[in-house]
Amino acid sequence: VRAGQSAFAEWSQAGAGDRAAVLFGAAADLRKRRHELAALEVFEAGKPWAEADADVCEAIDFCEYYGREALRLAAGGLVQSPPGERNRLTYQARGVVAVISPWNFPLAIPAGMVTAALVAGNAVCFKPAEQAPAIAYGLVLALERGGLPQGVLSFLPGRGEEVGAALVEHPGVAAIAFTGSREVGLGIVAAAAVHRPGQRQVKRVIAEMGGKNPAYVDADADLDGAVPAIVASAFGFAGQKCSALSRLIVHRAVRGELLDRLVGAAGELRVDHPRGMGTQMGPLIDADAQAKVRSYVDIGRTDGRVVLARDHLPREGFFAGPTVVVDLPTTSRLATEEVFGPVLAVFEANDVDHALALANDTPYALTAGVFSRSPSTIERLGRALRAGNIYVNRGITGAVVGRQPFGGYGLSGVGSKAGGPDYLSQFLEPRVVTENTVRQGFSPDLA
Ligand code: NAD
Repeated sequence: VRAGQSAFAEWSQAGAGDRAAVLFGAAADLRKRRHELAALEVFEAGKPWAEADADVCEAIDFCEYYGREALRLAAGGLVQSPPGERNRLTYQARGVVAVISPWNFPLAIPAGMVTAALVAGNAVCFKPAEQAPAIAYGLVLALERGGLPQGVLSFLPGRGEEVGAALVEHPGVAAIAFTGSREVGLGIVAAAAVHRPGQRQVKRVIAEMGGKNPAYVDADADLDGAVPAIVASAFGFAGQKCSALSRLIVHRAVRGELLDRLVGAAGELRVDHPRGMGTQMGPLIDADAQAKVRSYVDIGRTDGRVVLARDHLPREGFFAGPTVVVDLPTTSRLATEEVFGPVLAVFEANDVDHALALANDTPYALTAGVFSRSPSTIERLGRALRAGNIYVNRGITGAVVGRQPFGGYGLSGVGSKAGGPDYLSQFLEPRVVTENTVRQGFSPDLA
């Protein structure tokens, strides 16, 4: 933090153009190393190739998008200046920002948080997830190759309860950008609220957390399109996405057919080591994740009925097969808690009202989906579903920077959407200078 504070003075005064140039340079470097970085992700995080590549591409997008956003904000804000008064609204950096990231998008998510904070003129202390520090270091190298001055960014791999907590509590940290679990996020919000000796600001916390994301399949939905979108949303990267589909709500008129097709399709997914080009589902991140997923499948067996489970999985690695559970009470832990694995709970709805009530029965509000051919149902659910990102007749994962600004509300997060026009300003303090221009004469210029 001290290193950041010393580097801050110069970096915060560099022009937005110079800072944006560092991000554009980093993007060029990431682009050059696209396959190398994706390969690292395949082995470090267990991502299948296509998804590892998508993560690298998203990191590139973040660098370029926030670079452009910084140039836009540098022009200042619009305020009124009546005759005799001049008002200027400008933005200044906050200070040292702590960035704490998860392992599931190990390059793109930290790339978004780190580059936004940096290009706004802040210094950054970056603590990556313990499970994927090497790929995170690829981001640091790209920024250095892009021309980032020494000391502006500190790379601090280590354990969350040690390094992460120390950053959160440090009186010299002005803001915290966190993406991860709800439990840790709420702990950070609480710890950041404590005023500590020497602290000169209220810490701003941007926390992007989990979801228990629903999708509704209406009686008139095109099942040919819905089934592959559901499979990809629930089982892509083995369900280890905050945006993953975990509660499927199906109109009773199509429940039987949809379940047959879904179970058939998910049962055919190729689950294997992610190095294989044909692999559709790789392993979970670690043994803890595997134990957690197994415990939720057990809950599914007790509280409901498991209609898809896979027994034949690779023996080496922390694999879990795609699992579909039906007949769960809505109060089951499997129906209410984030599993972060390939377990899909399916519910039946009598009509759109019933589906909406089921979908919104959660404090989370991250992603949601609708499969329907009825414009009025689409319109209605687009308004009434409790989610930050709602997808219609497509999968509910895979937000693209600048196209689907991403993030939730409720207990899914606090802060503005990543990859959207409101994100960067969270790392800035707006200031207004008001000058009385009805002058009383000029003083001589002593300089
Ligand atoms: P996690 O909360 O376990 O860890 C996230 C980060 O917090 C890690 O770097 C970890 O070391 C750190 N950490 C842990 N304890 C800490 C503490 N006491 N103080 C400070 N830092 C601490 O989450 P994870 O397992 O890495 O990621 C999975 C979670 O992230 C899921 O809940 C998922 O939904 C969520 N997620 C959300 C989004 C989003 O955009 N909303 C995106 C990706 C992941």
